[in-house]
Amino acid sequence: MNFETQHITIANVLSQARNFIPYHDVRILLQSVLKVNHAYLIAHPEQSLIPTQIQTFQLLVTRRVSGEPIAYILGEREFYSLKFKVNPSVLIPRPETELLVDLALEKISSDIPCKVLDLGTGSGAIAITIAKLRLLANVTAVDSSVDAIAVAKKNAKYLNVSNVHVIKSDWFEGLAGERFDLVISNPPYVIFDDPRLSQGDLRFEPQLALAAGLDGMDCIRLIISSAASHLNVGGWLLIEHGYNQAKMSRQLLKKAGFSNIFSRSDLAGIMRVSCGRYGNFLQ
Ligand code: GLN
Repeated sequence: MNFETQHITIANVLSQARNFIPYHDVRILLQSVLKVNHAYLIAHPEQSLIPTQIQTFQLLVTRRVSGEPIAYILGEREFYSLKFKVNPSVLIPRPETELLVDLALEKISSDIPCKVLDLGTGSGAIAITIAKLRLLANVTAVDSSVDAIAVAKKNAKYLNVSNVHVIKSDWFEGLAGERFDLVISNPPYVIFDDPRLSQGDLRFEPQLALAAGLDGMDCIRLIISSAASHLNVGGWLLIEHGYNQAKMSRQLLKKAGFSNIFSRSDLAGIMRVSCGRYGNFLQ
């Protein structure tokens, strides 16, 4: 896209670019180019942009027009009020996954040390948030992608978290003999031929982190069936899943010897996370 004038103000940019992309996106991109907040844009409509700012902004708008997610364009996304660096090698953290963190925090005491495992950590959003809010938790975060591991390590460093260890492992493969008090995962769970995979933001995200077989349950099945050998008795498994996978997940948890099994819905009212406690406990 090209703007019509060389002398261009914040007001011009806002009104011209919204012909191409939604206003919300326009302002987020302009804020990032000018390194200002929304209030500043509103208060200074007459401010001129310098040519390099115009060029950078045009480039960002063009990327957005082609469908690239805002989080990848900006290189970051907020999750649980923390800023995480993201790139196309990791899933963009989603608001519904905050439920998984809420449930984990319910299970972890602030004053007792414990061992936590996050499977398929991606950007590290889940593991790092837990580590930041539970300083005595010793969190292991694994991913099978070296590119994702690099992102998670960068986030742990940038967010100043030292109780997270990011390691390369295909699910439990690299963790032989290790047991944890809490195992948590947002695995891929989309059905492999779901049309959403070729639409919107999902087109740009790693398919390996999204799709999981004919019914989307391949990774969930593997995690639930292997978790018992990596949990201490009394430890919890918390797993995120799709809108129609709660019942199947609870059945798998039961079959694998878990008790106190329940599912919890996200803010949209969708059953999003299922949980079980390893061992024989009364409801
Ligand atoms: N909740 C994501 C979506 O449906 C999928 C994330 C995942 O597979 N873990 O867009």
